[in-house]
Amino acid sequence: MSYFTEEPEHISLLRQTIRRFVETEIPRESARQWDREHRFPPELFRKLADLGVCGLTIDQEYGGHGRDLLAAVAVIEELARRGGAAVGPFIQCAFYGGINISENGSEQQKRELLPKLARGDLIFAYGLTEPDVGGDLASVKTTCRRSNDGTKLILNGSKRWCTGAEFADYIYCLVRTGPAEARYKNLSFVLVPKGTPGVSIHPIDHINIRYTLSSDVVFEDAEISPDMIVGGEAGWQTGWNMLAGEALDVEKLEITAYTFGVASAAVEDAWQYAEEREQFGKPISGHQAVRHALVEARTKLQACRHMLYHATWLANERKPCSVETSMAKLYVADTSVEIALICQQVMGAYGLSGEYDMERYVRDLLGMPIVGGSSNMQKNNIANRLGLRS
Ligand SMILES: Cc1cc2nc3c(=O)[nH]c(=O)nc-3n(C[C@H](O)[C@H](O)[C@H](O)COP(=O)(O)OP(=O)(O)OC[C@H]3O[C@@H](n4cnc5c(N)ncnc54)[C@H](O)[C@@H]3O)c2cc1C
Repeated sequence: MSYFTEEPEHISLLRQTIRRFVETEIPRESARQWDREHRFPPELFRKLADLGVCGLTIDQEYGGHGRDLLAAVAVIEELARRGGAAVGPFIQCAFYGGINISENGSEQQKRELLPKLARGDLIFAYGLTEPDVGGDLASVKTTCRRSNDGTKLILNGSKRWCTGAEFADYIYCLVRTGPAEARYKNLSFVLVPKGTPGVSIHPIDHINIRYTLSSDVVFEDAEISPDMIVGGEAGWQTGWNMLAGEALDVEKLEITAYTFGVASAAVEDAWQYAEEREQFGKPISGHQAVRHALVEARTKLQACRHMLYHATWLANERKPCSVETSMAKLYVADTSVEIALICQQVMGAYGLSGEYDMERYVRDLLGMPIVGGSSNMQKNNIANRLGLRS
């Protein structure tokens, strides 16, 4: 790979399309209002899906455009500049659904679900975290057992912070399918269809990523079909491999791209504000302290861009990239918090006002070193993968 290469033309054209979409379909005031209300308009996602972007993570034989992670990550970056309203459901469709079923689904599940995902007709939610389980996912307690006659799977337990559970067609759920002592061995993924009896949803109040609700999902003898085992019968008890496989590398990239998009918007807004706001007879961008702050933010952003797209390129080529994707997630999440705080300072009091987008950027970016594998968990992964003696 060349270290210095132009972005492929089809991705640059796609960026232009998404930028036009953002300008016409996501006015700033609407983005602020949806964030306040923890919602996105379903018709917004329909219009986005009609551009064909949901097929960017799905092979052509299953109705997609062919797996093009660089293009899909560029879409996330562009959409995220204007809040979570469009990027959130896009990720839930193209990544939670498209990537996981492509990587881990049975042939039957691929034939049935991927064409719908490629059209944007299905949305998934992630059911990994639990009240007592954050980073240590091998200790999930939600159980899934077969009924005595073997015709049903029965779920009990609860998931926490399940984003979009209230509208998702399926919750992609990590469950314990044998004795807990075996930890990594007795885990499986199942799909819990929307409206399954015995499933209740309880929203959690929170300050970030508010394009929808994030909720506790409680399973009380909830019954699903054995067809819902991800990977079919062969997938039973293989949940840990599915979790730690290639899909995890892409999961890290998806949240990193979201982070990078928000940080980019923060830098652009602060830059423009500093040129317009005058104090002491000149634009504040003329005061050296502010000038330097903005350049520092932009430089950090540029480093984030390189980390993100290099790791994405590796993943797209299906080269080993567990270390690089963890480094990108770690670096971009932590650095974006620094960027956000610099940019908020530049905007003074207005960086704290609900009349501007900066306070939302800060709220969203503060969560990024926590969600999708915390910065500490990424450091553990990098040290372990590089064989650092413990
Ligand atoms: C808005 C929002 C949306 C979310 N959406 C989803 C979703 O859709 N689906 C889902 O499944 N989850 C979701 N999450 C959950 C998120 O992924 C978890 O919060 C995250 O994995 C961290 O888990 P935890 O908060 O329980 O932290 P914990 O694992 O309890 O960790 C707490 C602190 O201890 C540190 N720590 C823990 N273990 C170690 C260790 N071994 N070494 C060093 N440090 C350690 C962590 O880094 C962290 O700083 C969401 C969270 C939020 C806030």
